[in-house]
Amino acid sequence: MTSQAVPSYEPPQVRRIVTEIPGPRSRELQERRKAAVPPGVGSVLPVYVTDAGGGVVVDADGNSLIDFGSGIAVVNVGNANARVAERVKAQVERFTHTCFMVAPYESYVAVCEALNRITPGDHDKRTFLVNSGAEAVENAVKIARYATGRQAVVAFDHGYHGRTLLTMTLTAKSMPYKHGFGPYASDVYRMPMAYPFRWPTGPDDCGPEAAAQAIDQISKQIGADAVAAVVIEPIQGEGGFIEPAPGFLPAIADFCRENGIVFIADEVQTGFARTGDLFACEHEGIVPDIVTTAKGIAGGLPLAAVTGRADLMDRVHGGGLGGTYGGNPVACEAALAVLEEIEASGLVARAREIGEVMLPRLRELAGKHAEIGDVRGRGAMTAIEIVHPGTKEPDAARTAELARRCHQAGLLVLTAGTYGNVLRFLPPLVIPMDLLNEGLDILGEALAG
Ligand SMILES: *Cc1c(COP(=O)(O)O)cnc(C)c1O
Repeated sequence: MTSQAVPSYEPPQVRRIVTEIPGPRSRELQERRKAAVPPGVGSVLPVYVTDAGGGVVVDADGNSLIDFGSGIAVVNVGNANARVAERVKAQVERFTHTCFMVAPYESYVAVCEALNRITPGDHDKRTFLVNSGAEAVENAVKIARYATGRQAVVAFDHGYHGRTLLTMTLTAKSMPYKHGFGPYASDVYRMPMAYPFRWPTGPDDCGPEAAAQAIDQISKQIGADAVAAVVIEPIQGEGGFIEPAPGFLPAIADFCRENGIVFIADEVQTGFARTGDLFACEHEGIVPDIVTTAKGIAGGLPLAAVTGRADLMDRVHGGGLGGTYGGNPVACEAALAVLEEIEASGLVARAREIGEVMLPRLRELAGKHAEIGDVRGRGAMTAIEIVHPGTKEPDAARTAELARRCHQAGLLVLTAGTYGNVLRFLPPLVIPMDLLNEGLDILGEALAG
């Protein structure tokens, strides 16, 4: 184990804007990038980062921005978290890779034990490790197909599951994720989502009605006995932080159980304390057959996991699962540090506190600005949906303008949503409360302009 404590480095926890955004140094780097990197890889805000930690991101021009993105819900424990840095440094100095499929090491097993313990349900579980969220979802589907001997896979409207062939097929939105990248994988079916704000009969009956529609369509269009798996995010991320109406997830989970369908919860974005529960499935007591995790798992090091019922996971033949880098020892040490940090710093409770500060303030803004059609989310995963006032018609242009205004003022926010009209907020769970409130002030000023 490690011998000496590493002093934690954190940039000063202040917002400080010293140039226009992006500044001259960032613009220079952006020009270099244009000649080296294809434009298909975008950046929300092309300020080039030199430091980050706590609740700020510092750029090459010396600007310090308030971070409401966490690198897309990844650095829940903060950037360069001291525990993560210490364990990573110690591991890098010992060995960086053997390949778990060649010669294994203890930290991989420890991460799997921990995930088996902390994911929903106290049944016997197994976990294996991969590199990305998409790879985790791909593997979950492979296992479900193998274990059931069935082929059809059900995904939902507004869902996002990644950019590989199968996972972009599972993803709902064409532009930019699928457009021009076909042909897609076969045997994927899409069902309606319980989207309370946009449900035709209103939010109250949305959960049961959407579940009934989805179950009816699955039964008629595919046949329940042909379905290997249902893949669903317990709160949809890229689709616009859509929290399924109450009752929807339990009804779908029950239907799966009754029909021998593997229920796969994609907790890649919602996991690791983000929503005010360790996993978002806990909110309605859902116990998935398989859970996929990634983003928040390892403080920014590339790692992902597939955790599932032992009787499903143990079915696959030896050598059928794996990958060269999956469960890299440096990433595993980072994951162990993240789990320690969540526990030691009470980050589940902290995510709830963040929600208790953000949601009332967002609702207050909605009361003042008719362009905010909906305020939603749980814990430190919240969003506002921007519409033309008095209607539910999405206003993507205004959403982009609001994001730009926030960026100019030193608040890093992300957009999302099928219609590009959602501003989403994912602060690191360690953000100081004064910065959180300052970020919301900036949002208020952006809306006032
Ligand atoms: C980000 C995300 C993925 C894909 O993860 P990558 O690591 O980018 O491959 C899959 N599912 C959900 C819900 C996500 O948010």
